[in-house]
Amino acid sequence: MYALSASDLLGIWENGAGKTPVEQALAILRVAFPRATNAKLMQLTIGQRDACLIHLHDLTFGPHLEGLANCSACNERLELDFNGRDLLASSPPLPDPELTESLNAESSFHFDAYEVTYRLPTSADLLNSFDLTDASALKEKLLHACVVSVSCDGAPKDIKELPENIFNELVQHMDNADPLANLTLAASCPACGHTWQIIFDIVSYFWNEINAWAIRLLHEVHLLASAYGWSEKDILNMSAWRRQRYLELIG
Ligand SMILES: [Zn+2]
Repeated sequence: MYALSASDLLGIWENGAGKTPVEQALAILRVAFPRATNAKLMQLTIGQRDACLIHLHDLTFGPHLEGLANCSACNERLELDFNGRDLLASSPPLPDPELTESLNAESSFHFDAYEVTYRLPTSADLLNSFDLTDASALKEKLLHACVVSVSCDGAPKDIKELPENIFNELVQHMDNADPLANLTLAASCPACGHTWQIIFDIVSYFWNEINAWAIRLLHEVHLLASAYGWSEKDILNMSAWRRQRYLELIG
Protein backbone atom coordinates (compact mmCIF):
# COMPACT_ATOMS: atom_id res chain seq x y z
CA MET A 1 0.00 0.00 0.00
CA TYR A 2 1.21 3.51 -0.76
CA ALA A 3 -0.12 7.05 -0.23
CA LEU A 4 -2.92 7.88 -2.67
CA SER A 5 -1.88 10.51 -5.24
CA ALA A 6 -3.98 13.50 -6.30
CA SER A 7 -5.23 11.69 -9.39
CA ASP A 8 -5.89 8.47 -7.38
CA LEU A 9 -8.08 10.45 -4.98
CA LEU A 10 -9.98 12.23 -7.76
CA GLY A 11 -10.59 8.90 -9.52
CA ILE A 12 -11.88 7.33 -6.29
CA TRP A 13 -14.11 10.35 -5.66
CA GLU A 14 -15.57 10.14 -9.17
CA ASN A 15 -16.20 6.37 -8.92
CA GLY A 16 -17.69 6.43 -5.44
CA ALA A 17 -19.77 9.63 -5.46
CA GLY A 18 -23.43 8.92 -4.70
CA LYS A 19 -22.76 5.23 -3.99
CA THR A 20 -23.33 3.30 -0.76
CA PRO A 21 -20.56 3.32 1.88
CA VAL A 22 -19.77 -0.35 1.08
CA GLU A 23 -19.14 0.57 -2.56
CA GLN A 24 -17.18 3.68 -1.61
CA ALA A 25 -14.89 1.53 0.56
CA LEU A 26 -14.41 -0.85 -2.39
CA ALA A 27 -13.65 2.10 -4.71
CA ILE A 28 -10.82 3.12 -2.36
CA LEU A 29 -9.46 -0.44 -1.99
CA ARG A 30 -9.45 -1.08 -5.75
CA VAL A 31 -6.96 1.78 -6.15
CA ALA A 32 -4.94 0.83 -3.06
CA PHE A 33 -4.63 -2.81 -4.22
CA PRO A 34 -4.52 -2.62 -8.04
CA ARG A 35 -3.40 -6.25 -8.40
CA ALA A 36 -6.23 -7.69 -6.27
CA THR A 37 -9.42 -8.89 -7.98
CA ASN A 38 -12.73 -7.36 -6.95
CA ALA A 39 -13.80 -10.78 -5.62
CA LYS A 40 -10.74 -10.86 -3.38
CA LEU A 41 -11.43 -7.37 -2.03
CA MET A 42 -15.04 -8.35 -1.31
CA GLN A 43 -13.71 -11.33 0.66
CA LEU A 44 -11.95 -9.11 3.22
CA THR A 45 -13.74 -9.18 6.56
CA ILE A 46 -15.18 -5.83 7.64
CA GLY A 47 -12.43 -5.50 10.26
CA GLN A 48 -9.71 -6.32 7.69
CA ARG A 49 -11.24 -3.81 5.25
CA ASP A 50 -11.33 -1.11 7.91
CA ALA A 51 -7.76 -1.85 9.06
CA CYS A 52 -6.59 -1.33 5.44
CA LEU A 53 -8.56 1.93 5.24
CA ILE A 54 -7.16 3.25 8.55
CA HIS A 55 -3.61 2.47 7.35
CA LEU A 56 -4.25 4.00 3.92
CA HIS A 57 -5.74 7.10 5.54
CA ASP A 58 -2.54 7.38 7.61
CA LEU A 59 -0.33 7.09 4.48
CA THR A 60 -2.42 9.63 2.56
CA PHE A 61 -3.64 12.22 5.07
CA GLY A 62 -1.63 11.30 8.21
CA PRO A 63 -2.57 9.32 11.34
CA HIS A 64 -4.48 12.14 13.00
CA LEU A 65 -8.26 11.60 13.22
CA GLU A 66 -10.64 14.07 14.76
CA GLY A 67 -14.33 14.62 15.15
CA LEU A 68 -17.09 16.26 17.14
CA ALA A 69 -19.55 14.60 19.50
CA ASN A 70 -22.07 15.64 22.11
CA CYS A 71 -21.72 14.26 25.64
CA SER A 72 -24.46 11.69 26.12
CA ALA A 73 -25.03 12.92 29.70
CA CYS A 74 -24.83 16.75 29.63
CA ASN A 75 -24.84 17.41 25.85
CA GLU A 76 -21.57 19.38 26.03
CA ARG A 77 -19.95 19.71 22.57
CA LEU A 78 -16.65 17.78 22.54
CA GLU A 79 -13.73 17.69 20.16
CA LEU A 80 -12.38 14.17 19.74
CA ASP A 81 -8.80 13.56 18.79
CA PHE A 82 -7.21 10.19 18.20
CA ASN A 83 -4.50 8.45 16.24
CA GLY A 84 -5.03 5.83 13.53
CA ARG A 85 -1.80 4.06 14.52
CA ASP A 86 -3.12 3.51 18.06
CA LEU A 87 -6.26 1.93 16.60
CA LEU A 88 -4.16 -0.55 14.60
CA ALA A 89 -1.60 -1.25 17.33
CA SER A 90 -3.53 -4.06 19.02
CA SER A 91 -5.36 -5.38 15.95
CA PRO A 92 -4.39 -8.43 13.84
CA PRO A 93 -1.71 -7.85 11.14
CA LEU A 94 -2.88 -6.06 7.98
CA PRO A 95 -4.09 -8.49 5.32
CA ASP A 96 -2.74 -8.39 1.76
CA PRO A 97 -5.57 -9.07 -0.71
CA GLU A 98 -3.06 -9.03 -3.58
CA LEU A 99 -1.74 -12.36 -2.32
CA THR A 100 -3.85 -15.41 -3.05
CA GLU A 101 -4.05 -16.72 0.51
CA SER A 102 -7.50 -17.28 1.96
CA LEU A 103 -8.60 -14.14 3.78
CA ASN A 104 -11.58 -15.34 5.74
CA ALA A 105 -10.94 -18.79 7.21
CA GLU A 106 -13.76 -20.65 8.99
CA SER A 107 -13.64 -21.00 12.77
CA SER A 108 -15.59 -23.16 15.21
CA PHE A 109 -16.55 -23.00 18.86
CA HIS A 110 -18.26 -25.33 21.33
CA PHE A 111 -20.78 -24.08 23.84
CA ASP A 112 -23.02 -26.34 25.94
CA ALA A 113 -23.81 -29.22 23.58
CA TYR A 114 -23.54 -27.03 20.49
CA GLU A 115 -20.81 -26.74 17.90
CA VAL A 116 -21.00 -23.73 15.57
CA THR A 117 -18.77 -23.21 12.51
CA TYR A 118 -18.79 -19.71 11.08
CA ARG A 119 -16.89 -17.22 8.95
CA LEU A 120 -16.77 -13.45 9.38
CA PRO A 121 -18.98 -10.89 7.56
CA THR A 122 -17.49 -9.32 4.43
CA SER A 123 -18.26 -6.49 2.00
CA ALA A 124 -20.03 -9.08 -0.18
CA ASP A 125 -22.40 -9.85 2.72
CA LEU A 126 -23.04 -6.14 3.29
CA LEU A 127 -23.78 -5.62 -0.41
CA ASN A 128 -26.29 -8.49 -0.29
CA SER A 129 -28.03 -6.84 2.67
CA PHE A 130 -27.93 -3.22 1.50
CA ASP A 131 -31.74 -3.00 1.37
CA LEU A 132 -32.02 -3.65 5.12
CA THR A 133 -32.17 -0.39 7.05
CA ASP A 134 -33.33 -2.04 10.29
CA ALA A 135 -30.14 -2.77 12.29
CA SER A 136 -31.45 -5.92 13.99
CA ALA A 137 -32.75 -7.41 10.71
CA LEU A 138 -29.37 -6.63 9.11
CA LYS A 139 -27.49 -8.28 11.98
CA GLU A 140 -29.68 -11.38 11.79
CA LYS A 141 -29.27 -11.69 8.01
CA LEU A 142 -25.48 -11.29 8.31
CA LEU A 143 -25.21 -13.90 11.05
CA HIS A 144 -27.34 -16.37 9.11
CA ALA A 145 -25.16 -15.84 6.03
CA CYS A 146 -21.96 -16.39 8.03
CA VAL A 147 -22.90 -19.54 9.91
CA VAL A 148 -21.53 -22.52 8.01
CA SER A 149 -22.96 -25.28 10.20
CA VAL A 150 -24.59 -25.88 13.58
CA SER A 151 -24.83 -29.16 15.45
CA CYS A 152 -26.15 -30.16 18.86
CA ASP A 153 -24.76 -33.37 20.41
CA GLY A 154 -23.41 -34.16 16.94
CA ALA A 155 -26.82 -33.84 15.19
CA PRO A 156 -27.08 -31.10 12.51
CA LYS A 157 -29.36 -28.17 13.39
CA ASP A 158 -30.84 -25.28 11.49
CA ILE A 159 -29.41 -21.86 12.42
CA LYS A 160 -32.99 -20.70 13.07
CA GLU A 161 -33.12 -23.19 15.97
CA LEU A 162 -30.05 -21.67 17.66
CA PRO A 163 -30.91 -20.82 21.32
CA GLU A 164 -30.39 -17.20 22.30
CA ASN A 165 -27.39 -17.88 24.56
CA ILE A 166 -25.55 -19.69 21.70
CA PHE A 167 -26.50 -16.87 19.33
CA ASN A 168 -25.01 -14.33 21.77
CA GLU A 169 -21.90 -16.52 22.11
CA LEU A 170 -21.56 -16.48 18.30
CA VAL A 171 -21.75 -12.67 18.23
CA GLN A 172 -19.07 -12.51 20.94
CA HIS A 173 -16.76 -14.89 19.01
CA MET A 174 -17.20 -12.85 15.83
CA ASP A 175 -16.46 -9.57 17.66
CA ASN A 176 -13.30 -11.04 19.20
CA ALA A 177 -12.12 -12.50 15.88
CA ASP A 178 -12.59 -9.23 13.95
CA PRO A 179 -12.09 -6.47 16.54
CA LEU A 180 -12.00 -3.56 14.08
CA ALA A 181 -15.38 -4.48 12.55
CA ASN A 182 -17.18 -2.62 15.35
CA LEU A 183 -14.60 -0.09 16.37
CA THR A 184 -15.55 1.90 19.46
CA LEU A 185 -13.53 4.63 21.11
CA ALA A 186 -13.57 5.68 24.74
CA ALA A 187 -14.79 9.25 25.20
CA SER A 188 -14.88 11.26 28.40
CA CYS A 189 -16.53 14.61 28.99
CA PRO A 190 -14.34 17.26 30.68
CA ALA A 191 -17.46 19.17 31.78
CA CYS A 192 -19.28 16.42 33.73
CA GLY A 193 -16.80 13.50 33.86
CA HIS A 194 -19.14 11.10 32.05
CA THR A 195 -17.39 8.33 30.06
CA TRP A 196 -18.93 6.35 27.22
CA GLN A 197 -18.12 4.55 23.96
CA ILE A 198 -18.37 6.15 20.51
CA ILE A 199 -18.65 4.07 17.34
CA PHE A 200 -15.99 5.08 14.81
CA ASP A 201 -16.72 4.45 11.15
CA ILE A 202 -13.54 4.85 9.07
CA VAL A 203 -15.44 4.48 5.76
CA SER A 204 -17.61 7.57 6.25
CA TYR A 205 -14.72 9.44 7.89
CA PHE A 206 -12.32 8.72 4.99
CA TRP A 207 -15.01 9.40 2.40
CA ASN A 208 -15.94 12.79 3.88
CA GLU A 209 -12.28 13.73 3.86
CA ILE A 210 -11.82 12.62 0.21
CA ASN A 211 -14.97 14.54 -0.73
CA ALA A 212 -13.83 17.78 0.94
CA TRP A 213 -10.31 17.36 -0.48
CA ALA A 214 -11.62 16.74 -4.04
CA ILE A 215 -13.89 19.80 -3.99
CA ARG A 216 -10.93 21.91 -2.82
CA LEU A 217 -8.61 20.44 -5.45
CA LEU A 218 -11.08 21.01 -8.32
CA HIS A 219 -11.26 24.64 -7.26
CA GLU A 220 -7.45 24.84 -7.36
CA VAL A 221 -7.36 23.18 -10.80
CA HIS A 222 -9.97 25.66 -12.01
CA LEU A 223 -7.91 28.63 -10.76
CA LEU A 224 -4.61 27.34 -12.20
CA ALA A 225 -6.08 26.23 -15.53
CA SER A 226 -7.84 29.59 -15.90
CA ALA A 227 -4.69 31.55 -15.06
CA TYR A 228 -2.03 29.53 -16.92
CA GLY A 229 -3.93 27.41 -19.45
CA TRP A 230 -2.41 24.18 -18.05
CA SER A 231 -4.24 20.86 -18.42
CA GLU A 232 -5.86 19.10 -15.47
CA LYS A 233 -3.33 16.27 -15.85
CA ASP A 234 -0.34 18.62 -15.62
CA ILE A 235 -1.79 20.37 -12.58
CA LEU A 236 -2.51 17.07 -10.81
CA ASN A 237 1.01 15.81 -11.54
CA MET A 238 2.44 18.78 -9.63
CA SER A 239 3.18 18.36 -5.93
CA ALA A 240 0.64 19.96 -3.59
CA TRP A 241 3.46 22.23 -2.42
CA ARG A 242 4.15 23.55 -5.91
CA ARG A 243 0.43 24.04 -6.65
CA GLN A 244 0.19 26.18 -3.49
CA ARG A 245 3.11 28.39 -4.61
CA TYR A 246 1.42 29.06 -7.97
CA LEU A 247 -1.90 29.75 -6.23
CA GLU A 248 -0.11 32.30 -4.05
CA LEU A 249 1.24 33.99 -7.19
CA ILE A 250 -2.28 34.24 -8.61
CA GLY A 251 -3.28 35.77 -5.26
ZN1 LIG B 1 -20.81 15.76 29.91
